Amino acid sequence: MTFPVARWWHLEESGRVVCELCPRSCTLVEGQEGYCGVRVNDDGSLRTTVSGFTSGFAVDPIEKKPLYHFLPGTDVLSFGTVGCNMGCTFCQNWSLSQAEDFSRLKASDPESIVQAARAHHCAGVAFTYNEPIISAEFCLEVAQACHAAGLKTIAVTAGYIAEPAREAFFQHMDAANVDLKGFSDAFYRHYCGASLEPVLETLEYLALKTSVWVELTTLLIPEANDSPDELRALASWVVEHLGQEVPLHFSAFHPDHRLLDRRSTPLSTLQAARSIARENGLSFVYLGNVRSADGSTTFCPGCGKAVITRDGYAVSARHLVEGKCAFCSALIPGRFST
Ligand code: SF4
Repeated sequence: MTFPVARWWHLEESGRVVCELCPRSCTLVEGQEGYCGVRVNDDGSLRTTVSGFTSGFAVDPIEKKPLYHFLPGTDVLSFGTVGCNMGCTFCQNWSLSQAEDFSRLKASDPESIVQAARAHHCAGVAFTYNEPIISAEFCLEVAQACHAAGLKTIAVTAGYIAEPAREAFFQHMDAANVDLKGFSDAFYRHYCGASLEPVLETLEYLALKTSVWVELTTLLIPEANDSPDELRALASWVVEHLGQEVPLHFSAFHPDHRLLDRRSTPLSTLQAARSIARENGLSFVYLGNVRSADGSTTFCPGCGKAVITRDGYAVSARHLVEGKCAFCSALIPGRFST
């Protein structure tokens, strides 16, 4: 089988191919796969081995991505492939991110994905389950087909992407939930086999140079990335560099993949993290992977009243009028209308 030639690479005189898609800059000899497992040097060209394939589809509430300020109450068609350009020891989706057997992948194409989204009355398509950046070429084909059909596009990503590809990838995305996995380079290096700075560059790029709606997720892992100092630094950086209105979701960890020696994140840790983030200026801080009425409610920053309440992933009440609080008319940041 001949796989499509990738974008974002160059050939060295030595015959090695250098992938330019993510900060790893994998340098590959003939037949070698990159760290992500889905890009290969095939006879002096970089080819992408999962373009045109999917590991599965599901219709999900958009709140599950999680996005709480982007078309709340709508469904999206989620799809992904396999592989990842990070090596998180705590990956909660490792059967896909670390998959070595590709035989379960099914062939797909942009038009079929658009048709499936429409058939299920979805507002858009979410690139999720595994890291979409590593199959950026295919995601962009799907995203362009979505936009031609009036569907929104959503990336659920760790944001670990190099500069030339960053602009091309996000210019076709309407919204992104970016995993900010911690707030120290030591954490990224030890637990993710990656580095923090490129992720921060992606976030600043999104906030300053695009109209992509951005929300953040941080999975809080006991004794790893949950210290009050680290959380204060994270929240302060977000306020200063992205703005106080960027929603932040603190999500509960459970032991999985190769990080089995930690307990699940207690609710009290999540609640303390939320208090720290709010004290340091963030207006919208949510709790995920736990039942928490407060932690899933959108409160108006003007009058403090609940403007969107949720029961699990379902919107149970909504007090918004044209994107403003129905009680005091304060603007609630987000995209609330298709
Ligand atoms: S996208 Fe994959 S092959 Fe390319 S540099 Fe990153 S890990 Fe390596």
